[in-house]
Amino acid sequence: MFSGKTEELIRRLRRAQIARQRVEVFKPCMDRRYSETDVVSHDENALRSTPVETAEQILLLAASADVVGIDEAQFFDMTLVDVCQQLANEGKRVIVAGLDQDYLGRPFEPIPQLMAVAEYVTKLHAICAVCGAPANHSQRLTNETGRVLLGAADRYEPRCRRCFQPPDRSATPAAAPLSTHVPPTPPMEP
Ligand SMILES: [Zn+2]
Repeated sequence: MFSGKTEELIRRLRRAQIARQRVEVFKPCMDRRYSETDVVSHDENALRSTPVETAEQILLLAASADVVGIDEAQFFDMTLVDVCQQLANEGKRVIVAGLDQDYLGRPFEPIPQLMAVAEYVTKLHAICAVCGAPANHSQRLTNETGRVLLGAADRYEPRCRRCFQPPDRSATPAAAPLSTHVPPTPPMEP
């Protein structure tokens, strides 16, 4: 969330298009926040994509592609791992973007399994909304408890390890930032 992973996916796919490779982009049907047919990042830098109900559909629809992009991959089930393996075994370049942790800070399947079998993994970080450090967690700002809760700035904010407060599933309100925490100097932009 807010780490630029969709922007990075789009950047890599655009470069493949410039190289005249055949690119197909997919995302789960359930992510309807912005558009039915485009992979749209928070900065509106869109790329046409195909919404699919299941990971298996990607196998058929990507048959003629050289490069396959998959966004919001944490919303697919574990079948996506076999699908990506099969595509890669066919010689396709497979680029997957997704959240690696859920709102409780737990590994968010199937992303950890994909990270294990991938040749290359890039972890992107947002900036902690509390202290400015690199943020590795999504802090849910509402009391809802389902693992899948679509939303942007109104429901989540990026937090670093120190500032992340995993919601207590038995208690209610979203945790307030630690009041005793002295913010470190914000990191340099690369
Ligand atoms: Zn922080």
